[in-house]
Amino acid sequence: MVGHIDSIETMGLVDGPGIRVVVFLQGCPLRCLFCHNPETWCIDDKFLITPEDLVRHIYKYRNYFGTDGGVTFSGGEPLFQHDFLLECLRLCKKMGIHTCLDTAGSCTGYEDILEYVDLVMWDVKGLDEVGYKKMTGQDIGISLKFLDYCQSIGKKMWIRQVIVPGINDNFEYIKRLKEFIHPLKNIEKVELLPYHLYGVSKYEKLGIPYKLEGVPPMDEAKCNELYEELISKN
Ligand code: SF4
Repeated sequence: MVGHIDSIETMGLVDGPGIRVVVFLQGCPLRCLFCHNPETWCIDDKFLITPEDLVRHIYKYRNYFGTDGGVTFSGGEPLFQHDFLLECLRLCKKMGIHTCLDTAGSCTGYEDILEYVDLVMWDVKGLDEVGYKKMTGQDIGISLKFLDYCQSIGKKMWIRQVIVPGINDNFEYIKRLKEFIHPLKNIEKVELLPYHLYGVSKYEKLGIPYKLEGVPPMDEAKCNELYEELISKN
């Protein structure tokens, strides 16, 4: 069995707790307007690796992991390559590596995978059918079912939301997000990630029209204000 990888980051500091190896898998059923990794959407054969070789590679960095770090499987949508991901996670747990899954929960068949995941970082793309469809081009149902399942098994979670100017950078949206998150259990952290332009040049190279053309990067101070509102007790 081989997996289709886009890239591997060895000293990741922003995709989960501690220092982590971050594996970006290829394949994604969504087309998020703000996506900065469009090169991961489709699967090709440029970087093939077996689960055994990948986990051996991850294990080389174990001395950097400390008590919090480990591996994060991201993408793309890591659930897109079910069998490969499952085997990688199984081997990681066998080696005592902390595992994190960065996902929108946009594929089915995750139940066995979650048995080997210590922390799920769930990306919110929209809070209702209309908003989700506008942001991703897909229906919200699978992603909400994924969230429900994580809740039902008591999985530890982080919630992440990209804040995009003109789309969700307002207090009304944050109020709705707060109401959405409030009843959820086992949420260890909530993050608002400011929209940036780092991925825009990739669209040009790939010949894909960029749908947020002209939208400025999210102002970090405003994003922090929204975050303060999100975590306030009011
Ligand atoms: S889920 Fe992630 S990789 Fe897929 S389109 Fe959205 S931002 Fe891009």
